[in-house]
Amino acid sequence: MFDSHAHYLDTAFDPDRDALLASLLGGEVEGIVEAGTDKKSSFAARDLAHSYGKVYFAAGLHPEYAERYGEVPEWLPGLIADAKCVAIGEIGLDYHYDDPAREVQKTALAIQMELARSYGKPVVIHDRDAHADCLEAVRGFPQVRGVFHSFSGSAETAAELVDRGWYISFSGVVTFKNAVKTVLAAQSVPLERILTETDCPYLTPHPHRGKRNDSSYIRFILERLAEIKGVTYEEAERITAQNARDFYGIA
Ligand SMILES: [Zn+2]
Repeated sequence: MFDSHAHYLDTAFDPDRDALLASLLGGEVEGIVEAGTDKKSSFAARDLAHSYGKVYFAAGLHPEYAERYGEVPEWLPGLIADAKCVAIGEIGLDYHYDDPAREVQKTALAIQMELARSYGKPVVIHDRDAHADCLEAVRGFPQVRGVFHSFSGSAETAAELVDRGWYISFSGVVTFKNAVKTVLAAQSVPLERILTETDCPYLTPHPHRGKRNDSSYIRFILERLAEIKGVTYEEAERITAQNARDFYGIA
């Protein structure tokens, strides 16, 4: 199983980060992508990726930190060029609190999409309550490919993204009892375009909702996806892990 989006640098893992990662990667977890959200976490993600063969990283500015920049952050191109950097992310739009202002977030997203275009790197999109504007950004950069992480949009939005060559990543939300919209989206996306992620320590799948999340819980997401797609667990695991390798360019 592959965890395509995680935050092991979160303080929730301070007590046992190294022991946990060693045990996960020594078991069924074949790869983890640690997602940066700002300068500090992107550099730390790089360091984590260089400590574990099966950990890779994404570097970028999450919309929450968008107010700090009006141009390409001077530290970002160097990280993107790192051998274990597999994507620019997480980047995107978060209109939940409307802070920073939408126009500021859009500028930061456009700057990083342009960077992805010029470096030929995929992007990891964070889209919270901003489906229409995220899709608009995707349309504005037809050469850029990416994934919508912890997808929360409609089946229609997913269909357009798939048509454009993008991937859709499902988190523990797909296991929640009230996740009707997310399940409909998962039904509509071909298994060959689906990634699995924890977004840990957040979004812990049912039946462990409320506890700290980690990559071993990808199994609950795979169980649900197998059920939704009408395939075996093994098939869901094999195909989604291969998708992650294909998407991130991991041999
Ligand atoms: Zn995340």
